[in-house]
Amino acid sequence: MAKNTKKERIVIVGGGFAGINFAKKIDKERYDVTLIDKNNFHSFPPLFYQIASSGLESSSIAFPFRREMRKIKQVKYQMGQVKRVDPVAKTVSTQFKTIPYDHLIIAAGTTNNYFGIPNLRESVYTLKSMSEALRLKSVILDRMERATLMDDVEERRKMLSFVVVGAGPTGVEIAGAIGEMKRYILKREYPEIEQDDLSITIIEGADRVLRTMSEKSSVKALEYLGHLMVDVRLNVQMKSYEDKVATIVVDGKEEKLYAETLIWTAGITSIVIDGFPEEVYGPGHRFIVDDYNRVKGCDGVYAMGDIAYLTAPGWERGYPQLAQVAIQQACNLAKNFNCGSFEHPFSYVDKGTMATIGRNRAVADLKHTHFYGRPAWFMWMFIHLISILGMRNKINVLLNWVWAYFTYSTSLRLLELPSKWPKRRRWEMEED
Ligand SMILES: Cc1cc2nc3c(=O)[nH]c(=O)nc-3n(C[C@H](O)[C@H](O)[C@H](O)COP(=O)(O)OP(=O)(O)OC[C@H]3O[C@@H](n4cnc5c(N)ncnc54)[C@H](O)[C@@H]3O)c2cc1C
Repeated sequence: MAKNTKKERIVIVGGGFAGINFAKKIDKERYDVTLIDKNNFHSFPPLFYQIASSGLESSSIAFPFRREMRKIKQVKYQMGQVKRVDPVAKTVSTQFKTIPYDHLIIAAGTTNNYFGIPNLRESVYTLKSMSEALRLKSVILDRMERATLMDDVEERRKMLSFVVVGAGPTGVEIAGAIGEMKRYILKREYPEIEQDDLSITIIEGADRVLRTMSEKSSVKALEYLGHLMVDVRLNVQMKSYEDKVATIVVDGKEEKLYAETLIWTAGITSIVIDGFPEEVYGPGHRFIVDDYNRVKGCDGVYAMGDIAYLTAPGWERGYPQLAQVAIQQACNLAKNFNCGSFEHPFSYVDKGTMATIGRNRAVADLKHTHFYGRPAWFMWMFIHLISILGMRNKINVLLNWVWAYFTYSTSLRLLELPSKWPKRRRWEMEED
């Protein structure tokens, strides 16, 4: 007991890729470790789009912290959204509690950036969290059911107009998944809807999709999107979105585009935690850190993963906000803590990037080579499977994928809307 009280206290904010890996690697005999997360589960963002498109169930890509803590022994979990830090008093406050620390590890990741466009937050659908993915899933299924009841073709086409803003991996993957629904599922499960009734358009400001990947991968991805009947509009900016109409700018001229469902994947910004001086923040409101993930000018505070900003030769705009960077920073920071002196500067080993656009179609840029089509798709599946936490989850995901591969059929297209009192009316119907 007396031994425990002498341990230095480490508080980790956020149990995503960075937080959970730090919790695994840190020496618990030496430090008293508490992990705080606003959700009671760790989740796997790269597969959120599969939740939204009814390809996987949420429990396949999420893992309750309390169960994980049975394995990562001696780490305490507390639920709470960290709102404020007092770096002088060395305390961190959630809506529930104030917790003292000796070392604070910030790994709270990012959220959507709407670039100040009015009303966007309220009117678009996003994919930055599990709850956002589940919300989008309900919306897609809701639009489909409503369209089946419409006799007027124009009305049906409006109801089934999906616009994705942003052609990074998330935008391309969700557009591809809806494209697969259009190409393979509509005819079988929604006979009332013609294929041409459903439209998917990607709006992208740059001159190619997947612009952080190689040119060849962009070209291939565009070809795969074409196969799934996704209309890609490059060099187009979205200016506003009001009453389901997006105003877009094409060659300097404004155009209107109707979008019943607008999926926003165009930008991210860091989670805001109050209490820090302005000078700790860099681009994207990320914490500026040194090579050891120490936050500039804040003794005992460290940041890692998406929320940290660190430049290096070849990464002049900061390391990319990717799972690999988060995991590698977490392992390196834990190593420095465990040896008691900060001797190991962080250096990123880039293992490559990939994106998938429907079944058998993926692009992968590795260090010295590129893969496309089915080999890239199998590689993508393998890497995602080994990265998901928990054996049960891995098996679940694999079974779902194998089943869907041969049948395109899933039992997950359930339109589940939580009921609430006082009951709300949906479609002019009384809810159960
Ligand atoms: C849709 C999508 C697809 C992606 N696809 C890929 C991909 O294919 N490959 C790839 O490498 N990367 C991908 N990424 C990026 C990757 O997910 C991130 O780089 C990675 O998750 C960063 O890890 P992190 O630990 O910094 O943050 P996160 O994994 O985002 O974890 C942050 C944690 O902090 C918690 N949290 C947030 N705010 C608070 C608060 N105030 N208080 C307490 N807890 C808080 C959250 O609940 C979460 O658990 C994708 C991201 C998204 C959203």
